[in-house]
Amino acid sequence: MDSDWKKGLKRLIRKVGRDKVLTGPEDLLMYSYDTTPLRHLPQVVVTPTEVQDVVEAVQFARRVNIPVVPRGAGTGMSGGSVPIQGGLVLNFERMNRILSIDIEKKMGICEPGVVTATFQDEVEKLGLFYPPDPSSYTISTLGGNVAENAGGLRCFKYGVTANYVLGLEFVNAEGEIVPTGYFDNYKSEINLTGILIGSEGTLGAITKVALRLIKKPEYTRTIQAPFSSIERALELVNEVIAKGITPAVMEFMDEETLSAVTQYLNYDFPHGVAAVLLIEVDGPEDQASQEGEEIASLCRIHKAMATEYADRPGEQERLWKIRREISPSLARLAPDKINEDVCVPRDQMLSFLKGVKGIARGHGLLIPTFGHAGDGNFHVNIMYDRRDEGQNTDAQIALEEIFDLTLQLGGTLSGEHGIGLVKRDYLKKQYREVELDFMRQVKKAFDPEGLFNPGKIL
Ligand SMILES: Cc1cc2nc3c(=O)[nH]c(=O)nc-3n(C[C@H](O)[C@H](O)[C@H](O)COP(=O)(O)OP(=O)(O)OC[C@H]3O[C@@H](n4cnc5c(N)ncnc54)[C@H](O)[C@@H]3O)c2cc1C
Repeated sequence: MDSDWKKGLKRLIRKVGRDKVLTGPEDLLMYSYDTTPLRHLPQVVVTPTEVQDVVEAVQFARRVNIPVVPRGAGTGMSGGSVPIQGGLVLNFERMNRILSIDIEKKMGICEPGVVTATFQDEVEKLGLFYPPDPSSYTISTLGGNVAENAGGLRCFKYGVTANYVLGLEFVNAEGEIVPTGYFDNYKSEINLTGILIGSEGTLGAITKVALRLIKKPEYTRTIQAPFSSIERALELVNEVIAKGITPAVMEFMDEETLSAVTQYLNYDFPHGVAAVLLIEVDGPEDQASQEGEEIASLCRIHKAMATEYADRPGEQERLWKIRREISPSLARLAPDKINEDVCVPRDQMLSFLKGVKGIARGHGLLIPTFGHAGDGNFHVNIMYDRRDEGQNTDAQIALEEIFDLTLQLGGTLSGEHGIGLVKRDYLKKQYREVELDFMRQVKKAFDPEGLFNPGKIL
């Protein structure tokens, strides 16, 4: 350890306090991973409780020339918060205060470490609603959601995180506090808020978020419809949309996913089920219940098997359980999983799902697929054992084939989980060099020395 490092660390501790600076091996291990198999130890972890701590941490990193990697809850699925080149992890878990909720203006101001579900619960007590709901909402943070532009189950009707961010405060690579949008009285001519959203911690550390809220829907009806074929399920999705109904949720689960989750929960579907849709309509009671009736009648026309309906919380939760327990149930199928979140145009969903099944057969792999059917956003889960060299190779080839299929069908490589490290090398399949170069120039303008989250996205 050289003397600059020692001196710098001492100064940092003096400025922010001993309890906010971690260097012990166990502590470093705790901040070395996310949900991908990627792992790398940082050199130091700083847990700020106020923006000035973030400023000090960034200035320290500049002085000793190490990278800075912002981190929310580490639920990311693309390696974004893994400090792959070491350096300083800025762990936002203690900047977790909801600073205000304004009922009249329908907005909330939060620190980045607020857990998404905590914010949702607090605004709902006041009759308001914050719709973005990644399935990780009970753990993930608002800062992580903004940095990944998280989507979720309600995207089809309500949009993604970007649709709710009014402004941000961030600490830039110079260690300066920069307000955007709402926090800048919307003075800036170029929308810096929009550039920060989805930038995956590569442009700066977000220290405050202003979020738009809407009125809490009065009524919700949940419908669970099993089908004997994928075609029938997708026909229903398209017809619901063609009728002008915009459900809040339209989740699709294929046969392999259902097999895993029903065994896990000891749940029964009718024999021969090939796909299940979980649909939820919400809004004023008369409108949402009428839409629920129309969907029920479409379910009959499309020969759904044993459709179930619920409009009371306990019953709804029972129908939701199948969807919510997918992740732990898949974990039992194989030691390793490549989980990707590609997105295809809605009229290409059937070709995509058939293509994935072909790829799975071709490699002898199990690839359960589920996702947000309203948006064509599918989570494909390549189950394998990476200790088996043959399976490992097959899984990597299958992944590349799935990406190629997605792009051939006019889709995109990431619907919501971001690029991070796991999709970085595939980005050139989707973008032309001129577009990638444009992104590199944006990164350079914010962070000329590459301090923030190096090696990610580009
Ligand atoms: C079971 C499960 C289900 C999921 N479902 C969904 C889903 O439905 N939709 C979806 O979109 N995602 C989903 N995800 C992925 C993940 O939860 C989201 O990407 C989430 O937004 C990450 O939040 P986090 O707080 O865990 O961030 P982290 O994983 O800690 O970080 C994610 C990225 O954000 C950056 N970052 C974090 N905080 C800040 C900050 N304050 N300033 C600047 N950059 C920051 C990090 O550097 C990193 O690049 C799921 C994950 C799991 C495990």
